Amino acid sequence: MATLRLHAIKKSLDSKPVVFEEHERRSVLFGKNVFNENTMRQYLTKDAFLGVMDAVRYGKKIDRAIADQVASSMKDWALSKGVTHYTHWFQPLTGATAEKHDAFFETVGEGNSIEKFGGSQLVQQEPDASSFPSGGIRNTFEARGYTAWDPTSPAFIYDTTLCIPTIFVAYTGEALDYKTPLLRALHAVDDAATAVCKYFDKNVKKVVSSLGWEQEYFLIDKRLATSRPDIMLTGRTLLGHSSAKGQQLDDHYFGSIPKRALNFMKELETECMLLGIPLKTRHNEVAPNQFELAPIFEEANLAVDHNALLMDIMGRVASKHNFKVLLHEKPFAGVNGSGKHNNWSLSTDTGVNLLAPGKTPMSSLQFLTFFINTIKAVHEHEALLRAAIASASNDHRLGANEAPPAIISVFIGEQLTRVLEELEGVTKGKLSPKEKTELKLNVVGKIPDVLLDNTDRNRTSPFAFTGNKFEFRAVGSMANCGNPMTVLNTIVAKQLKDFKKEVDTLIDKKDLKKDEAVFNVLREYIKSTKPILFEGNGYDAAWEAEAKKRGLSNNKTTPEALKARISKASIALFEEMGVMSAIETKARYEIEIEAYILHIQIESRVLADVARNHIVPTAVKYQNILIENVRGLKEIFENNYKTVSKEQINLIEQISSHIEGINANVTKMIEARKHANQMDNIEKKAEYYCNHVKSLFDDIRYHCDKLELLVDDEIWPLTKYRELLFTR
Ligand code: ADP
Ligand code: MG
Repeated sequence: MATLRLHAIKKSLDSKPVVFEEHERRSVLFGKNVFNENTMRQYLTKDAFLGVMDAVRYGKKIDRAIADQVASSMKDWALSKGVTHYTHWFQPLTGATAEKHDAFFETVGEGNSIEKFGGSQLVQQEPDASSFPSGGIRNTFEARGYTAWDPTSPAFIYDTTLCIPTIFVAYTGEALDYKTPLLRALHAVDDAATAVCKYFDKNVKKVVSSLGWEQEYFLIDKRLATSRPDIMLTGRTLLGHSSAKGQQLDDHYFGSIPKRALNFMKELETECMLLGIPLKTRHNEVAPNQFELAPIFEEANLAVDHNALLMDIMGRVASKHNFKVLLHEKPFAGVNGSGKHNNWSLSTDTGVNLLAPGKTPMSSLQFLTFFINTIKAVHEHEALLRAAIASASNDHRLGANEAPPAIISVFIGEQLTRVLEELEGVTKGKLSPKEKTELKLNVVGKIPDVLLDNTDRNRTSPFAFTGNKFEFRAVGSMANCGNPMTVLNTIVAKQLKDFKKEVDTLIDKKDLKKDEAVFNVLREYIKSTKPILFEGNGYDAAWEAEAKKRGLSNNKTTPEALKARISKASIALFEEMGVMSAIETKARYEIEIEAYILHIQIESRVLADVARNHIVPTAVKYQNILIENVRGLKEIFENNYKTVSKEQINLIEQISSHIEGINANVTKMIEARKHANQMDNIEKKAEYYCNHVKSLFDDIRYHCDKLELLVDDEIWPLTKYRELLFTR
């Protein structure tokens, strides 16, 4: 076969789809491989069960004797399911998941052996974690990291391994993962929200943050994907001319799911059911070979774990079906990229969704309280929220007129805008009984019947209210949801805490009634948060100018955006809310900026390699064929050869000029890289990579893509867009 590309295409065309049949109802499969409440009831003594449940519900410590009992039962359960190994399962700051398997098997002398798993192995481990990013934390403290059991996320079995969700921290307690700050943020929002709920209902003891993510992805034939070094090493195509047909006909979106993809989905969903991941929807997305799946929402910590686990499993199941899953935010130029909407809400242990309008005026006032406080939190911390979703790969999407812009704003819809306008007119200080009744009946009390059908879907908004939840839509498809969820819950916690202080002051000092005080504070919030509310088209250039006037940040690149992470205000915020120490915040910044540099560096190397070692030689080869042809024409036509070989000569010249374009820019890019690599200041280095290395990608790509249009298809080495996107 002439090229790896043609070989891959042939293999792909010759192979039969892998069929997957479902034999069992999903409700029967659901949670079968999870050490969940049901399983615990069966396997644990009453004391152990109550001990774990107290830890799950109220964050109580599990004592050693109970841990031993739990471990022993977990082992029995796991062995009954053919499990041989266990692992602490965690999410280091690489964004991926990590595991190191240990066998239950132990020798006990004289050639005997047993299966063993004790409380100490369940509760804590010390993996050799020196190669995980620590942002300088470990260097500073010269200490190792350890993992510690998170009982709020149940253990599960994958394949033949018992996986125990854990946090990952340095010996000195600093978080080295995404889960630890998330748990702290969830605790902070619980405290703050519960305190505010008590204005409305004294019985509320706990507030839980929920997350329902929607995961977009591409499914590409594995043989074709592996034929491309850029996809293999960077998760995206660095070059490739767009296909004549792309997504312009909108014929993929919500269309019938291709058979082969459906087999993959069925198997993936079956795996997820066993693991207790409540997948609910699946459909084709806008771009060809692009899909989306979403679960039923869950408690945020569990939802984050489930998304991380899902991303891992997707890759494994896809491989069985000869697919490669691309989770990258922008795998292909010219067609839509992928995101991960984070649907977020808060609900009480009494079963009330605090972001859903209630049935009575009082519960609707509670709704408005949480609704307006969330808007205010986003307004105060918009730059930090943008930083929470910053990555080299997500930069391709934000502001690229297909995803929410890099400017954070909040969409609330026409009806709620009107409600806020009316509330803005509330009298300052004490309210007359008439005004109070009027407010409660005609403004607050009118909310429920109009809301759900009026949640206009403004797809361009990065943070939209959709009826009973906010959708944070700018999260990247590859991202670990832990980071954005930590930031969102922290800023809302801080806001609710401040709100409570203000309301209490009005009650104590101004002698206002509770509801009067709430109305008064909310009125001021409505006035001050107007700049963050935007109902228009986020893709419109006019919005950029308008947002600037409103004082909103517009950080288009990761190096710019990340600065908000280590502003004085952010450091103080995380410290105050007990979510991250200054050391932890700074460490994260370093890790993220370093990751940015490395991503661009790798892409730059791959691009240079592919352009120089694959594209240029191919272009030369084709040029030689043309030269040979011109020579032949000259032999036949002698003096008249220029007329008959005019087009060939033109092609030869064009090829030369593109080769020159590639080589000149690649040389320039390598020089820029060399320069950047000598810089000590990582912030400056990241900026240099962004502005002087990455900025050359488009030029190099331009010449390569032009050559793709000129060179004989038969010898073109890289699998083309039409093949990647339309092979089903
Ligand atoms: P779409 O936004 O695509 O129309 P939905 O709004 O129905 O889809 O739901 C998307 C996701 O939002 C799902 O994961 C769903 O479980 C989740 N979701 C629904 N209600 C809530 C809520 N109150 N809190 C958090 N997530 C929710
Ligand atoms: Mg949605």
